[in-house]
Amino acid sequence: MPKKKVLLDEDELPKKWYNILPDLPEPLPPPLHPMTKEPLKPEDLEPLFPKGLIKQEMSNERYIKIPEEVLEVYRMWRPTPLIRAERLERYLKTPARIYYKYEGVSPPGSHKPNTAVAQAYYNMKEGVERLTTETGAGQWGSALCFATKLFDMKCTVYMVKVSYEQKPYRRIIMEAYGGEVIPSPSNRTESGRKILESDPDTPGSLGIAISEAVEDAAKNDDTKYSLGSVLNHVLLHQTVVGLELKKQLEKIDEKPDILVGCVGGGSNFSGLSYPFVKDSQKNGLRIVAVEPAACPTLTSGEYRYDYGDTVGLTPLIKMYTLGHKFIPPPIHAGGLRYHGDAPTLSLLVAKGVIEAVAVKQLSTFEAGLIFARTEGIIPAPESNHAVRVAIDEALKAKEKNEEKVIVIGLSGHGYFDLSAYDSYLSGRLNDT
Ligand SMILES: *Cc1c(COP(=O)(O)O)cnc(C)c1O
Repeated sequence: MPKKKVLLDEDELPKKWYNILPDLPEPLPPPLHPMTKEPLKPEDLEPLFPKGLIKQEMSNERYIKIPEEVLEVYRMWRPTPLIRAERLERYLKTPARIYYKYEGVSPPGSHKPNTAVAQAYYNMKEGVERLTTETGAGQWGSALCFATKLFDMKCTVYMVKVSYEQKPYRRIIMEAYGGEVIPSPSNRTESGRKILESDPDTPGSLGIAISEAVEDAAKNDDTKYSLGSVLNHVLLHQTVVGLELKKQLEKIDEKPDILVGCVGGGSNFSGLSYPFVKDSQKNGLRIVAVEPAACPTLTSGEYRYDYGDTVGLTPLIKMYTLGHKFIPPPIHAGGLRYHGDAPTLSLLVAKGVIEAVAVKQLSTFEAGLIFARTEGIIPAPESNHAVRVAIDEALKAKEKNEEKVIVIGLSGHGYFDLSAYDSYLSGRLNDT
């Protein structure tokens, strides 16, 4: 009988991050300068990022050592548990074994501090005093406010306006950690003012908020910018999740058949799955990325060069995109409302190494409540996308009477997203 809850000892925490760049099926198309369209040089990124992170962004080394100061913070909540969802299995009457790797145990409640802490650390090392960033649902902002405070830095968060209004608790968390939160688009930046002029009632979007945060950092010398997803170094930091998962599965002698996670920009999904990618074909492992039908980047987007933000200030990156001007409908999984996706993940999907599916909002909340009523944890609306597809796969396994091993990346809890659950429970939620 496999253990229900698989824990690692603190000293089993990974000491290195895994960089997938040298293991991609073909070289990653380089990011391009937004003006010249020439491949980006490390210096081009220096107004926005510290050198330590730029080096990681462009590194071809397979393993990168985690600094002791970062490990020390990770130990506050890592390693995170791998939990067998036995009650969910019983409810579904499936022969599949379902596990979830739970990132909701971090202080801000999601996987995001895995990179926020590393990014704050490298900025602090180079004397940066303030970080700017954008946030959708507020998880990234709260992770960065938490992390910057640990290293005695300031943090300014441009929060997508619809989330600022729908999710006051996230704003309060950021302010409790000492951050400054501004609804975006705002009057603080040229990019924000331009958008407000043409569309004063815009719900905002991650793309717009990125433009504002980038502009703020570029115009201030003591300030740099920090991104919570998409970039190579962000995905790199998140691989602590998959590296731990690998050890945990080995510990109980399980071989996964399906890894499933949700995708906004791709960081929690890549963190969970990248350490498994290289041998996935050999091991018959399916790696499934789940996105919202309202923002179907991987399943309906084009694979081409595009800007990371709405205004066109960021480098051009080759990725699946819905177009940098795409403003997704205000679904509750705010963290999944992004027009693009990480370039490495996009390449792996284009090459057929990773599968992608899109699911509708109502079906994700239905899945989230099944999970809450069996496993007791109320997942983040983003994580519900992964839970949905895991349940669908478990039901398929039941039809075929197959003993599949399914692992869910449960990227965060939903205790600050209860208004979304309230909308669902009272029948006010729609599929847009
Ligand atoms: C931000 C967030 C996501 C989406 O971002 P990725 O970079 O794709 O991981 C998913 N789940 C939770 C809980 C989040 O906070």
